[in-house]
Amino acid sequence: MDIIEIAHAYDIKISRTQKQGLNLFIDIMLETNRRDNLTRIVEKSEINVKHLLDSLMGLTTRLFSDGKKFVDVGAGAGFPSVPLAICSGVKTTQIEASRKKTDFLRKVSEELTPYTQNPVTPIHGRAEEYGVKPEYRELFDIAAARAVTSLNALCELCLPFVKSGGHFVAYKSGEAEDELNRASAAIETLGGRIAEIKKYSLPDGSGRTLVIIEKISDTPEKYPRAYAKLKRTPL
Ligand code: SAM
Repeated sequence: MDIIEIAHAYDIKISRTQKQGLNLFIDIMLETNRRDNLTRIVEKSEINVKHLLDSLMGLTTRLFSDGKKFVDVGAGAGFPSVPLAICSGVKTTQIEASRKKTDFLRKVSEELTPYTQNPVTPIHGRAEEYGVKPEYRELFDIAAARAVTSLNALCELCLPFVKSGGHFVAYKSGEAEDELNRASAAIETLGGRIAEIKKYSLPDGSGRTLVIIEKISDTPEKYPRAYAKLKRTPL
């Protein structure tokens, strides 16, 4: 099955042009992966499900619409941001701590320009350092992160980027209850509230959860703290 049919079964519509953009992205990733290790998943059918469909599940939140400002924290090889940029027209910033991965993201953003209506801007840096800068703080409609760290630490990295009324979407595994319980104090302290929890299964049967947090008040200035501290003593 191709990505159009796979996504259709999850109520996600992908045009032929968007499919071409997604395929070009995967071709560039697999070519780069021969020298630089970006992903251990190299079968196209598995990539379609575990990387593309999973990233595109963000569209079911209806938050990712044309022109919205979106930051992907710990974007890695471009998930979920590149598929979301191709299929929704959000204005995308990617913050990634690894230089090698950021170089890859730059190449992708240049080559995919014909397929993204709005710019995709990769930044090499750490979220906790960018989240305190006035030109990044509380300016985004949406932040998202997939497979980066535990939810309580992730909230401290991501919520400072989100403006009041905006949302943070955390892509988590099927068993997110423990993480959610441990993150409830962090969410409140950082100015958020749980808006929705969406559970789904990928076609291979693996469970996933989207935790959608709404920003309802400003994040106190002292957050985010240094990475070692926010990991050692999460809120
Ligand atoms: N989101 C991608 C995905 O779902 O495939 C990448 C996941 S990878 C396991 C985690 C990524 O987060 C790595 O590329 C790492 O360099 C990045 N990362 C971890 N902590 C970070 C931080 N504090 N700021 C920016 N990037 C970070």
